[in-house]
Formats: sequence, structure tokens, C-alpha cells
Amino acid sequence: MATVLARPVLAYRGCAIDGGWVDPGRRLEVICPSDGSLIGEIARGSEREIDLAVAAARRAFEIGPWGRMPAFERGRMLLRFAEAIRAHAEELAGLESCDTGKPIAQGRADIDACARYFEFYGGAADKLHGDTLPFLLGYTALSLREPHGVTAHIIPWNYPAQIFGRSVGAALAAGNACVVKPAEDASLSILRLAELAFEIGLPRGALNVVPGLGEEAGAALAAHPDIDFLSFTGSREVGTLVQAAAARNHVGCTLELGGKSPQILFADADLDAAMPVVVRAIVQNAGQTCSAGSRLLVERPLWERVCNELRQRFAALRVGPHDSGADVGALINRSQFERVRGFVERAKADGIPVIAQTPLPADLPAGGHYVAPIAFGPVPEDHELATEEVFGPVLACLPFEGEAEAVRIANGTPYGLVAGVWTRDGSRALRLARRIRAGQVFINAYGAGGGIELPFGGYRHSGHGREKGFEGLLEFTRIKTVVIQHGEIGERQP
Ligand code: NAD
Repeated sequence: MATVLARPVLAYRGCAIDGGWVDPGRRLEVICPSDGSLIGEIARGSEREIDLAVAAARRAFEIGPWGRMPAFERGRMLLRFAEAIRAHAEELAGLESCDTGKPIAQGRADIDACARYFEFYGGAADKLHGDTLPFLLGYTALSLREPHGVTAHIIPWNYPAQIFGRSVGAALAAGNACVVKPAEDASLSILRLAELAFEIGLPRGALNVVPGLGEEAGAALAAHPDIDFLSFTGSREVGTLVQAAAARNHVGCTLELGGKSPQILFADADLDAAMPVVVRAIVQNAGQTCSAGSRLLVERPLWERVCNELRQRFAALRVGPHDSGADVGALINRSQFERVRGFVERAKADGIPVIAQTPLPADLPAGGHYVAPIAFGPVPEDHELATEEVFGPVLACLPFEGEAEAVRIANGTPYGLVAGVWTRDGSRALRLARRIRAGQVFINAYGAGGGIELPFGGYRHSGHGREKGFEGLLEFTRIKTVVIQHGEIGERQP
């Protein structure tokens, strides 16, 4: 059922630089993935706007007022920003879901998470500190925890507001000045967030947003010689380019990349609790989630029961436009659609059985890129469906026998982002939590609660560094050691 949120409009603004709007003179069209309609335009920033944004951030950091603001005031500023986000939550959620095709309920959850990141990091801003260190007699040694300076944030299209919140929230709380490059396919919420930041009085230059193409604005930002740290979230391929650019400038970077995350169902699992979570973990955001539970490992005695459950649950899912109350929306664009369809067609051609598939309604808008959620299995361990990130609502099911095989299959891809273990055996759960190579392991749960407080990040091809939680804040700081020689302290006076 259509709502008033169906087609929110964000007037053209340009690039958010130094507290104002800069028009680069070139624009990109904004397409709603639900039906392919044109819903607006954004700026196509390039090297020139990136230069202006980095210079503005540098001034804000070195000269102020942002860089000279006491930590508690920075924290207050971020809390005020969170309040503004909450006050505009419905508008932001509408923009987010229309821009990405995700159901409005997910858009609302994303904006809530965005506000929570600013609350979490706003509260933490004045609790970051260094230490005094044991050292030689006659010396006092200190560690100072400092911001990096100018931080660059390259953001993907799947959860723009959430990823903006977690990386920019932490960077600002630590005292950095930020330059953000949102994804060309989904920039609207971030542009509106930048405007709200201006309205609440965030000092000029602390936050700059340059929308544009990855190979223009993104590449220019990653390679800029005057940035001090890079936070990249996106694909493994682009992550490699960004890390190479960071290496050439000798700056640190965090990479939050993809995944092929396993959920492991042991025969003693509580299936009633597990199955709704298993299905949600692969269809949320139409499977375009880095932490999607895209491999389901099933202990053999459960196989038939799990297949039946999947058939029933996939049949009950509704696919449709972002404002229709559907469970699953359209994919972001044509090339993502072709990519996912390619995986599905190759799996069928390779003779892998389809366990379950959601029927597509006949009246879907013609211009939208809808893919029916589908579960395959048994999928051979070395098939691309069991090893490659599809980034669509495609579940690969693999049977296993016993704990050792479950661990071997779970660790059998180069990725390691998240895992879920479903068992009533507490000792086994703890053994697996230690043996699985993933940045987060959930026991009898998966992706619970949004995880604002929980450090998140990858092993190996899923990236390195951590975002979210207090750990994510520390990434945006570095330690300086200060050593003071003052001579030996004399005997204590009685
Ligand atoms: P992408 O790598 O294509 O794009 C990400 C960002 O990089 C965009 O802003 C894009 O414009 C920019 N970019 C593209 N080319 C660039 C270049 N040459 N130099 C600099 N920047 C460039 O990724 P995507 O398709 O937007 O997102 C999907 C991927 O992101 C998936 O692999 C997914 O798993 C991953 N992801 C990971 C996490 C996580 O936290 N681990 C979260 C969300 C998405």
C-alpha cells in the first residue's frame, strides 16, 4: 500500500563543503530502484571539490573552531546532531528507502541506528584518554590519545545512513575533521544529514560531503596527499585500490569489505527460534548486506526439516516496492540485478537443486530490479555459490556431519565477517566461537540489536580494522608518547 513517503524530494544542493554548498556544475541522476523513476539529481563532484573539501577540513582541524573545541563540547554537539536526526527521522527514512529501494521499515531502522551512533559516540567523546606509563627512575612517561586529523570516509550504497553514522560519528567524537564520499547510487540521506549538521551549528569544515563517481571523487579522495586516515566500506575489489592509494601516502586505513557468513544449525538447535532469524539474515535489504547469513550449514539429521521450513517461509515472503509493506525490495541497480541473476542461472545450470523460492507478484513495477529470494542445496563446498559473495537474496545450504566438519566448512572461504551458531550445547557453542574465523560470532542469535556497541570488522578478505563500539572510536585516534625527564625523586619526607 503506497504511503505519503513514496517519492520524497530532496532539492539539488551540490557538495557540502566548509559549511556551505558548492556546485561543481555537473550532475548525476538519482533513480528510485523500486520502479526506475527519476527522483532527483546530485552533484558529480570530482578532484576540484575533493581538494576544496580536504582544505576546509584541514583548516577546521588545525585552526578551528572545531579542532580547538573541548571534548565535552564536541560530545554535546554530536548529541544535538542525534536529536536533529531523530526529529527528522521520518523524512530521512523516506529518502533512504526511496533512494535504495529498501522497505520503509528498514529505512526507519537505519535512521534510528544512525542517530544511535551519534548518541553512543557523543557520549564517549570526553571519555577518551591516554595513560601514564611505568618507565625509568627520574622520568614520567605519558601516552596522549590524539585524533588523526583529516579523515576520509568512502561509503557504499547498501546502508548509507548507518555507515555514515558509525564512521563519521566515531571520527568526529575523536576530534577529526571529515570528508565523506557517499556512493553514487545512494547519497540523498547523507546530503540531508550534512545539511542538518550545518543547521545544528557543527563548526564549518568539520564535516564535508562530496557526492560523485567512485573513479572520480572516490579515487581523488583515496589518493589525496593531505588526508591522515581512510575509512573504506565497500567491495573487496575497490578496497584493494583504496588500500594501495593509502599505502602510497603512508596513511592508515580500515577496510570493511564483504562476507560469506555462515549460520550453523546443529541437530540440537531450537529451530523455532532459529528459522525466522536464518531467513531474515539472507533477505534483509534484499541480501545486499555485508553480514548477510548467506551460507546455511545444516547438520544432516535436520536437513529435511530445514528444507521444509525454508519452503514455507520463503513462500510467505512478499517482494515489492519500498513503500508497499513488502519484506523484500528491489535490488539497487541493473548491474547488481544482472550479477545476482547470473549466480542464480549458473547454479541452476550446474544442476544444484532449488530448495525454496519466493513467488514474484505479477504487478511489480516494470522499471524495478526485483529478484525472487531463493535457497539452493545441497551446494557443493567448492561451488561459487558457497564461496563467493552474491549480494542478493540467495541462500546456499550445505549439509555437514559433526562439529569438526562444521568448523572446516565455516572457515572454508577467504572471508570472515560474521557467523551464527545454533545449538543447545553451551560448551560446543564456546568451542565454535573460538574456532570460527570471523569478526563477530553470534550464539543462538544473528546480527542482533543493530550492534552499535559491538566492535565489527573482518578477517582476511572481509577487511581489517574495527568499526562500531568503543573499539571503532579508537581506530580514529593514534597514540603519542611523551617522556619527561625530571631527575630522581628524593626520599620521602616524614
Ligand atoms: P563499491 O566498492 O563498488 O563502492 C563503495 C564506495 O567506493 C562507493 O562510494 C564508490 O563510489 C566508491 N568507489 C568506487 N570506485 C572507487 C575507486 N576507484 N576509488 C575510490 N572509491 C571508489 O561497493 P558497493 O557496491 O557500493 O557496496 C557493496 C560492497 O560493500 C559489498 O561487497 C559489501 O559486502 C560491502 N559492504 C561491506 C560492509 C562492511 O561493513 N563490511 C558494509 C556494507 C557494504
